[in-house]
Amino acid sequence: MKYASVVIRIPIEKAFTYSVPKSAEGAIYIGKRVWVPFGQRRVVGYVVDLPDKVDVKGLKSIESIIDEAPIISEELLRLARWVSNYYVCSWGEAIDAVIPGVLKKGKTSIRSKAAVKKKAPKISDKLEPTAQQGKALKAIYSSLDAGQFSVFLLHGITASGKTEVYMQAISHMLKENKSSIVLVPEISLTPQTVERFKSRFGDNVAVMHSGLVGSKRFHEYKRIRDGEARIVVGARSAIFSPVKDLGLVIVDEEHETSYKQENVPRYHAREVAIKRAELTHSTVILGTATPSLESYHKALKGEYRLIELTERMKDIDLPKVKIIDMRRELYKRHYATVFSRPLRESIERVIARKQQAMLFLNRRGFSTFINCKSCGNVERCKRCDSVLVYHYSKKKLICHYCNWSVDPPNICPKCRGSYVKYFGMGTERVESELHRYFPEGRSDRMDTDTTRKRGSHDKILGRFKRHNINILVGTQMIAKGLDFPKVTLVGVVSADTTLNLPDFRASERTFNLLTQVAGRAGRGKEGGEVIIQTYAPEHYAITTASKHDYGAFYKREISYRKELNLPPFTNIIRITLKSRKAERVIKVSKDLAGTLKKRVGSDEILGPAPAVISKIRNQYRWNIILKTKESEESSRRLKTLLSSLRKPSGVSIAVDVDPISV
Ligand code: ADP
Ligand code: ZN
Repeated sequence: MKYASVVIRIPIEKAFTYSVPKSAEGAIYIGKRVWVPFGQRRVVGYVVDLPDKVDVKGLKSIESIIDEAPIISEELLRLARWVSNYYVCSWGEAIDAVIPGVLKKGKTSIRSKAAVKKKAPKISDKLEPTAQQGKALKAIYSSLDAGQFSVFLLHGITASGKTEVYMQAISHMLKENKSSIVLVPEISLTPQTVERFKSRFGDNVAVMHSGLVGSKRFHEYKRIRDGEARIVVGARSAIFSPVKDLGLVIVDEEHETSYKQENVPRYHAREVAIKRAELTHSTVILGTATPSLESYHKALKGEYRLIELTERMKDIDLPKVKIIDMRRELYKRHYATVFSRPLRESIERVIARKQQAMLFLNRRGFSTFINCKSCGNVERCKRCDSVLVYHYSKKKLICHYCNWSVDPPNICPKCRGSYVKYFGMGTERVESELHRYFPEGRSDRMDTDTTRKRGSHDKILGRFKRHNINILVGTQMIAKGLDFPKVTLVGVVSADTTLNLPDFRASERTFNLLTQVAGRAGRGKEGGEVIIQTYAPEHYAITTASKHDYGAFYKREISYRKELNLPPFTNIIRITLKSRKAERVIKVSKDLAGTLKKRVGSDEILGPAPAVISKIRNQYRWNIILKTKESEESSRRLKTLLSSLRKPSGVSIAVDVDPISV
């Protein structure tokens, strides 16, 4: 009699044992999917082990085997196991993240195919490396050749030639017929980067992203699996691609928060990349102009190898950055609510010279809140603990947490007063002010409101590229990787939106964002100018960003983190409890915090306390924060504890290890 341990996608950490019918004995392998009876249902499970002996009697039998060849390798099973342990979810849930959607329903069967030996492609536009690139490549090649696990942090200002370093390292791997994975923050926002890989490596590149529809995605998946595509370029989940003979993993813009998945399993693709490289003796390159505090700290400690590229290609200087103190603008009455006088003058100049500008504001909508002048009442969401944002195009007040909307009131619903005023600004407002002050300027807006349809990113960027528009207004969507040589002005309408976030990474995010948007200016011969408007002109995140001085920023920020015992000096685990009943969530949170103190015993346990947005969609939210220096161990204990607890009725518990914001 043969047996199989099978895991199923349920939030319970358990492998279930089934017997294998005689007829299927020859075909059962680890990594294949099977149909199994589970309670009253029939579900898809993954075979994770084939034990020789079991002591349970009366086992149910596997109904059928779905795959002709294993769909998940033992390497990826192990990686998923690590993800489940570190990020505190079940193995089944983690495996589920590894398998692409089209295979999950258990319909498509995968055949294995002999690997195709490919000739190395002709690399036409390979460049001669500069001295700095050459030095970086030498170190990287020696690690690649040794087949050794190591992590490089490639810190280089924008246009210092990082992407070229990635491509040469990939070529080096191709020659040995080994595979590379390149992670980029978001495919739709980095079309130019993806294009560069495709034009250099042609058919060797498979692009994986959520925009691909089922069959196309499956096709790319098969090309990767069969070794036809040796290079995978993709967002977060591409780290689980079933590549053959992995040798190199590149994480471009390693500091990007979009590498963190917000649903179970709440993994960080950069950390998974490093783990996968460790399991496969591969080399990792983390590339960025603004390293995360975590990565730079590790590099300085010698855990990662630091490579710095300090010179820009093509002798293009970094753009000059001007900080505008909006308090003084207000005082001098130059203030026209959205554009300061210097920003207005620069926009005029851009229009007159037929150049291009990007205006950045990390907030969508028109006005950010509306407020009664007589009683002070602020319009809030009925379901969330949030303030409603006015959207001009829809003529509605909208909740940015649940999308609930309502007509804006003419009189105050509370005191019946008739003076309701609109405050704050979002991208819609910036665009409307542009029309008002610069009727001759042609502008467009790029934010989540204007890019809901598939392909709309490309459309807007296409119009900008062809100069159909000369001013592009946008949220952080326009901050990334875009290279438009005609952009001579970048205006940050307000640096304060990010700076004022209630989050310990607010300064880091502000520095990153400002550095990135500033990098959009002056990529052509005409040079560039950056104008940052702020009410906090002396804040170090802003002053250091204006000087393009990462080192100075790091020094200030790391001492603050150390003082408050925040990452990278500790790891944070956040436990969020949600319930429709406020008393219930408070009671369960308090009980859980007590149990955690006894059984997980990390360095510090904070809370329970209401979350920053304490109610979303009528669910009350409370947090417990653990700080730990031994995160693997704390995760392990937490996972054991949570699976041993009885599930509290009416309360859900979500764990986020190394959350993006706290
Ligand atoms: P980054 O990724 O750091 O922004 P890139 O790799 O995109 O920098 O390089 C910036 C520009 O310089 C690109 O147009 C690239 O083709 C060019 N470039 C990079 N390396 C070289 C080189 N060694 N010789 C000539 N041009 C180069
Ligand atoms: Zn709401």
